[in-house]
Amino acid sequence: MKEKKKIIRNIEKPVQKYRFAIQTLFALLCIWIGIEFTLFVKSLEYGNPDLVSHRPPGVEGFLPISSLMSVYYFFVTGEIHPAHPAGFFIFLAIVGVSFVVGKSFCSWLCPIGFLSETIGDFGEKICLKLFKRRIKLPKFVDYPLRSLKYLLLGFFVYAIFFSMTLAALKAFLDSPYNLMADVKMYYFFANISKFSLTVIAVQFILSIFIRNFWCRYFCPYGALLGIISFLSPLKIKREAKSCIDCGLCAKACPSFIKVDKVDTVRSDECSMCMSCVDACPVADTLFVETKIVKKKISKKFVAIAIISIYIAITGIGILTGHWKNNISRKEYIILHKQIDNLGHPTNTADIEKLNKESESRADK
Ligand code: SF4
Ligand code: SF4
Repeated sequence: MKEKKKIIRNIEKPVQKYRFAIQTLFALLCIWIGIEFTLFVKSLEYGNPDLVSHRPPGVEGFLPISSLMSVYYFFVTGEIHPAHPAGFFIFLAIVGVSFVVGKSFCSWLCPIGFLSETIGDFGEKICLKLFKRRIKLPKFVDYPLRSLKYLLLGFFVYAIFFSMTLAALKAFLDSPYNLMADVKMYYFFANISKFSLTVIAVQFILSIFIRNFWCRYFCPYGALLGIISFLSPLKIKREAKSCIDCGLCAKACPSFIKVDKVDTVRSDECSMCMSCVDACPVADTLFVETKIVKKKISKKFVAIAIISIYIAITGIGILTGHWKNNISRKEYIILHKQIDNLGHPTNTADIEKLNKESESRADK
C-alpha cells in the first residue's frame, strides 16, 4: 500500500505578480524608446542637423546581430566598436543574466516574450473552453520545429565567426549599412510590406493556439540563451520524497516541461518563470537550488538577481561612457539621405565598396 505523505502547505508568496510588474515596466521602457526613436527618425527627415532630436541608445537592444558582431570584435581586438556600444552592453547583460539565472531574460524582461505570453494566456482560455485542454503539438512535429531556431542561430554563428575575417568584420561594423541599421529597421516596420505583415499576422494567430510559437520555434536569441542556460548554476529541483504527484507544476509550465516527472529541470525551454514553483502546494518540494553549494534560493532572490545583473552590466556601459555612439547629427543627416541605397553587404568587396561610396558622397 502506498504510504500516505504528510503535507506541509506551501505558504511562500508567489512571485508571478512581481514578474508581471517587471515585464510591464520593461515593455513600457521599450515603448518609450520606440517613441523617442520615431521622433529621432522623423527629425532626420527635415535634413537640418540643428533639428535632429535625441536618439535613445537603448534602441540598439533590437540589433542583436550587430551586437553579436561587436562582441566578437571586442574579443578579437579588445576594443568596443563605437557604432552601437549600447547594443554591445545590452547583449552582454542578456547573456550575463542567462549565465546566472538560466533563460530568465525570456520570461522576465523580453518584450516579445511578454507579448507572446499574453497572447498565449488569452489563447489558453479559448482552448480550454473549446477543447478542454491546452494545445501542444505532437513530438514528431514539435521537435523538428524546435530545431529551426538552432538552425537560424547556427547560420548566424557560421556567418560571423567562421566566414568573416577581422577586416571584413571591421568593415561591416564601420559600414553605413550597420551605422543606419536601427533607422533601416524603423523603415522596415513603418513601411512594412504585405508579405512581412502576413508573416507577422500568421505568427500572431498561431501564437494564440500554440503557446510561444515564435519563441519556441524561431527565435535564435532564445536558442542562444537556451544553450547558455545549461551553464547556469541555478536549477529548478523537485523533492520526490515530499511530492504528492498532483501534477500542478507541469500544468502550470508554459513550456510543457514535465516538471512532476524529473528531479531537476534541465531543459533549454525552461525560462525560469517560476510558475511551477508558485503552483506547487507542498512546502519545500519545488524550489530553485544552486548547483555550486546545493543551497535553496528564494524566489525573490531570483527576481533580484535578474534585475541586478541586467542593470549592473548596462550600468557599466553608461558609467564608462560606452553608451551613446559617436555618430554626429551631421553624419546622420548625410547617411539618412543615402538610406535607400544602403543594402545589406554580403561580402568584404561589397562592404569596402559601400564604404568608399559613402566617403566620396560625404566629401561632396
Ligand atoms: S519548468 Fe518551471 S520555471 Fe521552467 S518554464 Fe516551466 S514553469 Fe517556468
Ligand atoms: S506541484 Fe509538482 S512538485 Fe509540487 S507536489 Fe505537485 S507534482 Fe509534486
